[in-house]
Amino acid sequence: NASSAGVGGIHYYSDDLGARASRASHGEQLIRSALASDGVLCFLQPIVSVREGGRVTAFEALMRLKDGDDIAMPGAFIEAAESTGLIHQLSQRLIDKALQILVDPAFTHRFGRDFVININLSRHQLKDVMLVDEMMALIHRHGADPRRVNLEITESAILAEPAIALRNLVRLREHGISIALDDFGSGYSSLSQLCELPLDCIKIDRRFVMDLEREPRKRHVMTSMIDLCRRLEFRVVVEGVEESATLKTVCDMGAEQIQGFIYARPMPFLDVLDRLGATLSPILPPPRAAG
Ligand code: C2E
Ligand code: MG
Ligand code: MG
Ligand code: MG
Repeated sequence: NASSAGVGGIHYYSDDLGARASRASHGEQLIRSALASDGVLCFLQPIVSVREGGRVTAFEALMRLKDGDDIAMPGAFIEAAESTGLIHQLSQRLIDKALQILVDPAFTHRFGRDFVININLSRHQLKDVMLVDEMMALIHRHGADPRRVNLEITESAILAEPAIALRNLVRLREHGISIALDDFGSGYSSLSQLCELPLDCIKIDRRFVMDLEREPRKRHVMTSMIDLCRRLEFRVVVEGVEESATLKTVCDMGAEQIQGFIYARPMPFLDVLDRLGATLSPILPPPRAAG
């Protein structure tokens, strides 16, 4: 615990800060041992086109770190990865694995030659002047088609260094890579970004989808967001759909693509091949016990 009594009993660190610091150093240890032991894992979660009968059109690559026999989730290490700069090395590993999947014969046999891989970029990467060259070098090394790569960014990541970030996005798109605005509708994302940023796709955040049925205002905003995105000719992905009632609601609103536990959870490469077909049906929750 970083909490320490200072002059006159003043505590220089709050418990909260202490807890955060120790979580960060645990995260850093996790990262260093994962990097040293090929422990950076690429989990995949399908993105499904409801308009095309549940066809899997894309996978989001989601990072996990091996932690002994456990698997660490991004919540345990992304913050530390960003603050230490280790996100670069982690992301290189993840992107390498994600691109391997894109050209994997078993995958293209199952999901076709045009499915897309979505990769998250952090603010550190977005403001890196080497981003585009490094990305293109990896893509070429795998013989992958840049048009099948979709990079997910957040508005706050752009704000760190807007001029460089914007320049990177423009250049990535010139190479045929598409850009998705992640977590839209939560945090600080604003409508002006929809006009100003070079974007292809909008991902509407999970927090926004929660309690949609019970909150009429959320429903109106959601309907308008989907409508707006479609008028602006962005692809729209609704994230975090867990329940069939929500699925029906957002489909009625015009949502075309869905990512959520209702179709599949993020899973390792081999599980995808074992468990997922080229088209998916919603996984209905088990019926509630009577009484
Ligand atoms: P994100 O990019 O918004 O990713 C979606 C998150 O929502 C994932 O969490 C996914 O498991 C979760 N999710 C998807 N469908 C549902 C659902 O129906 N219900 C619920 N409750 N959750 C759902 P995950 O994998 O824990 O990732 C969290 C965040 O960590 C990501 O949010 C992303 O910001 C970050 N992240 C993950 N992988 C990477 C990476 O390779 N690089 C960077 N920079 N960030 C990453
Ligand atoms: Mg994402
Ligand atoms: Mg998201
Ligand atoms: Mg998120």
